[in-house]
Amino acid sequence: MNRAGLLDLNEALQHPGRTLWYEMSTELDQEEDLDLVSPIEGTLEAVSTGNLLLLKGHFAARAVFECSRCTAPIEQTIELDIEEQFPVEGVASSYGTQDFARVVPDEPYQLFEGNALIVDALIRQMLIVNLPLQPVCEYGWDGDCPEARERIIESQNEPGRLEFHRLKNLLEEGT
Ligand SMILES: [Zn+2]
Repeated sequence: MNRAGLLDLNEALQHPGRTLWYEMSTELDQEEDLDLVSPIEGTLEAVSTGNLLLLKGHFAARAVFECSRCTAPIEQTIELDIEEQFPVEGVASSYGTQDFARVVPDEPYQLFEGNALIVDALIRQMLIVNLPLQPVCEYGWDGDCPEARERIIESQNEPGRLEFHRLKNLLEEGT
């Protein structure tokens, strides 16, 4: 993977049947909604059948989420399983014709630049479907969570205080 986050897949595309493995790591620095504790790391396997480019992989990372009940920070492992296929046009150059194989993705978002995969774009798409929707801390929805209990007491005794905290958080987020 080069500095622009492009993974050139020509070796797989121009040699159908040849399986390539790539070790990869990304920090997705343009992703504002994700609080990563470790880079997203994993392995991607690429092989072309001649008509299809098959990508398979597994990625994992640690990230911090907010408990949906008590808003306490919780660290969780995100796992991404990748299994994608993309149509290929043209004849692989290793067959000795003047032609060469080109990947022709039909996704509504850009995943390739020519025959190079935009790694972060693929990982982002995988994250959208794999992030926990409502992460909860170890107390779950029903456990006797001290944070959640404190929150209830706080909001009963000092109705203005919780609002103040919310406002303060908003202001801090905005800076
Ligand atoms: Zn909680």
